[in-house]
Amino acid sequence: MKEFTGISASPGIAIGRAFPYLEDSTTIPHYDITDNQIAMEYQRFVEAADKAAVEIQDIIDNTSEEDRYTENNFLETHVMMLNDPEFRQKVNEGLKQQQVNVERVLMDVVDDLVGKMSNAQDSYLQERTVDLHDVSRRVLNHLLYRERLSLADLQEEIILVTHNLLPTDAVLMNKRMVKGIAMDVGGKTSHTAILSRAFEIPAVLGLSSITQEVRTGDTLIIDGNKGVVIVEPDDKTLDQYVSNRKEWERREVQLLYMNELAAETTDGKLIKLTANIEVPEEIDSVLSHGADGIGLFRSEFLFIQPNRIADEEEQYQAYSKVLQAMPESPVTIRTLDVGGDKVIPELKGMDEQNPILGWRAVRFCLSNLDIFRTQLRALLRASPEGDLRIMFPMISGVEELVNVMNVLNEVKEDLRRENIPFNEDIPVGIMIEVPSAALTSDILAKEASFFSIGTNDLIQYTIAVDRGNEKIAYLYEPFHPGVLRLLQIVIHQAHEQGIEVSMCGELAGDPYAAVILLGLGLDEYSMSSFSIPEVKKIIRSVSMSTAEELVGEILEMKSYHEIDRYIRSWMDERFEILSR
Ligand code: PEP
Ligand code: MG
Repeated sequence: MKEFTGISASPGIAIGRAFPYLEDSTTIPHYDITDNQIAMEYQRFVEAADKAAVEIQDIIDNTSEEDRYTENNFLETHVMMLNDPEFRQKVNEGLKQQQVNVERVLMDVVDDLVGKMSNAQDSYLQERTVDLHDVSRRVLNHLLYRERLSLADLQEEIILVTHNLLPTDAVLMNKRMVKGIAMDVGGKTSHTAILSRAFEIPAVLGLSSITQEVRTGDTLIIDGNKGVVIVEPDDKTLDQYVSNRKEWERREVQLLYMNELAAETTDGKLIKLTANIEVPEEIDSVLSHGADGIGLFRSEFLFIQPNRIADEEEQYQAYSKVLQAMPESPVTIRTLDVGGDKVIPELKGMDEQNPILGWRAVRFCLSNLDIFRTQLRALLRASPEGDLRIMFPMISGVEELVNVMNVLNEVKEDLRRENIPFNEDIPVGIMIEVPSAALTSDILAKEASFFSIGTNDLIQYTIAVDRGNEKIAYLYEPFHPGVLRLLQIVIHQAHEQGIEVSMCGELAGDPYAAVILLGLGLDEYSMSSFSIPEVKKIIRSVSMSTAEELVGEILEMKSYHEIDRYIRSWMDERFEILSR
């Protein structure tokens, strides 16, 4: 049994079999084996090599005679390499000498052969190095079960173990089968974290090298509450976690009685608790957790279609579906926020040196007007279906807001000309997630119908700490006095101008932040649906005056640590917090 600690990214407990999803040789597992495992490891290699040979033979058999002797004759060489007794012998010897897993040994044997062949004078031999790489990759695919590697095709329940997960993989994977996630990289507000919370999959990220420690089929425990991963637990630990999981599920179900109740403080202030969603399929979970609407629909995930970008009609259908599911409740859809950590492979030119400070969100849209206008048309067309609000991300100053509003007005004009109905008074809000926007919130509040504070980015830009980088995750401090002061400014300025303020960053769903945000005057909290009941329970148990008093106290404190310690003990004394 081995235990690893990372960042708790999505709460809950999962127990299951490991499925390493590895993309390149840097993430090939590396672990020691004992004397009596050598024969078993060699047998795994023989089976994988045999399968690879059969696979190549199939390709050869299905190739026409003509091609077989031209383009594809290298395949014959591949079969020969795989069946070469000397090659197999080298792997067996490597296993005995190194006493590590066969994937690692295979990589070393291939590296060694490639080194010798590259140094040879013979150009034919030099060219054969490509074949060796190709062959070894095929064998590795079998050793690592990559033949069923498409996450969309998963047919059995697994715990996903990976170095990193592209948003595309996360959206397209078969979520019913992924019971937990353990990842080398990633922080609490990285997109894998956000998506795993959205799909209610317990996840521990930022584990550094978990991909090196786990092999296919190992039993894993993912404790998303504590940020712990246990590999091959002993019986006692396993029993303990089976009962912890039951207890967690029981308490979650218990909290659902909150659904019928309003988020109202003991002295009568009504707060809106809305949901963040990434794909329309999450609507059922939004409805079953008693959300007052949708505070953030991250539309960029709609753009992740295999090999293309969703067109106007597809977007219109998706937006309408969400609006029709919640006809009485406000639904805030954010325009495309690509770039930074949300790279969509189909959109070209996004490989920048400094993407977080680069060509993202409205900056990208303003220079890709076709994409931007298409989205705005789809949104406006869907607006009569419900209470739609449009929200622009990453606004850094009033000029940018004026520019995006101009495009919106042009699109409205087009629709009028074409006699296509839309809501003329559609509320248009902005995200406050760049410090310059927070500091000029008095100016921006005159131009926007509402604010929504994106703390994930606001914290990142205020403290200059990459939100997805586990190495500096300790600096990602939501209760940093600098962050709290910005929140105070934004909420105060918005209220001065008579507009409401929501928060859709992950801080809104953090139960430890619930009372502080109340005291700061936040009107709406938008979060992963399953966090709603717990936050609601807290809001229903305090008064505004208590919350304001707490805020008064912490704003006097000098350091994050002081504030964090104080808040945690203040909250723990009063509430039994489930996810920490
Ligand atoms: C945020 O930055 O807080 C936010 C909600 O947007 P995203 O996480 O999608 O960048
Ligand atoms: Mg953001």
